[in-house]
Amino acid sequence: VRVLLQFPEGLKSEALKEAGRLEKEGNEVFVSASPCYGACDVAVDEAKKIGAEKIVHFGHSKFMEIEEVEVEYKEHFIETDFRPVLEKALAELKEAKAIALATTIQHIRQLPQIRRFLESKGKTILIGKGRLTRFDGQVLGCDNSAVASIMDKADAVLFFGGGVFHPLGMRGIKKPVIAADPYSGAVRKLNAELERLERRRRAMFSKAGEAKAFGILVSTKPGQFNIGIAKQVKDALERAGRRAAILVSNEINLLSLENFRSFDCYVNTACPRLWEDFELTRKPIINAEDALELAALLRR
Ligand code: SF4
Repeated sequence: VRVLLQFPEGLKSEALKEAGRLEKEGNEVFVSASPCYGACDVAVDEAKKIGAEKIVHFGHSKFMEIEEVEVEYKEHFIETDFRPVLEKALAELKEAKAIALATTIQHIRQLPQIRRFLESKGKTILIGKGRLTRFDGQVLGCDNSAVASIMDKADAVLFFGGGVFHPLGMRGIKKPVIAADPYSGAVRKLNAELERLERRRRAMFSKAGEAKAFGILVSTKPGQFNIGIAKQVKDALERAGRRAAILVSNEINLLSLENFRSFDCYVNTACPRLWEDFELTRKPIINAEDALELAALLRR
C-alpha cells in the first residue's frame, strides 16, 4: 500500500523509524514534511497528489470525517511523574473543592491516576466530554467544551499538560484556571493572561470598525476549511458598505500577508486561535463571528 506518514512537530524525529517499520511490512512510504498543528491538519492534498491510498496521522485523535482517503490516527501517549507538579498546583487550589480536570491527548491515559491522586487530597474531580474530542477530559486549543460544560459545578479548572496553548483556549471561564506543566514543573494561574487576550480581542474589534477593506482568510486544511462562512462574512461586510476579498492558502502566514497592502483588517475563518499571533501583523485580525457582529453593527 502507498502510505503518507504525517507527524506533528514534536514527533517528526520518529519519521525515519516509522517509515522503516512500514516499509518492512511491504508498504511504499512517503513522509509529509509540511508543518502539522493538529488533527484538523490532515495532509489530504499531499496524499492525493502522490496517489497515497492511506494517511497515517501520528500524535492526534480523530477530529473530523475525511472521505477522500483512508486515515489511520496513531495517538501518542506519554507517562509523566505527575505528583510533584500536582502537589504545587494544590497550593493554588486551596479554595477549590470541586475541580474541572482537563488534559491533552498525550496525557489522557494518566487522567484516572491523576483523578485518584487529587481525590486522595480531598478534592472532588469533575471530568467533562468535549464536542470535538474523542476522550473524556480531553481539550483542544479550539475546543474547551470538556471544561466549559461542567463549570457550573466546578470551583476551578486544572489543566495538566505541556505549555499554556491549551489552557489559554479557556475563553469565557471566570473561575480560576490553573495550568500544571509536568515537563517544566511550572504551575501558573492564567486568569490575568486570559483577560489580557480578551482585552486585545476587543481592541482589535474596535479597530476593525474603522477598516474600509477586509481580507477574509480561508485555509484549505481539511478541519479548518470554512469557505461557506467566508462567503457569508464577505456578503455581510459588503452590505455594510465595506470592500472584501477572500484569500485562500493552506498555511496562513501572517507575515506574508503584509504584501497585500490594500487590506486594513483580516477576518480569520481558519484555526480560531490564529488571531492570537496578532503581533505578526500590523493590521487587526478578528474571527468570523466577530466580523459578522461588526457588519451588523455597521449596518445600523
Ligand atoms: S483548529 Fe487550531 S486549535 Fe483546533 S486542532 Fe486545529 S490547530 Fe489546534
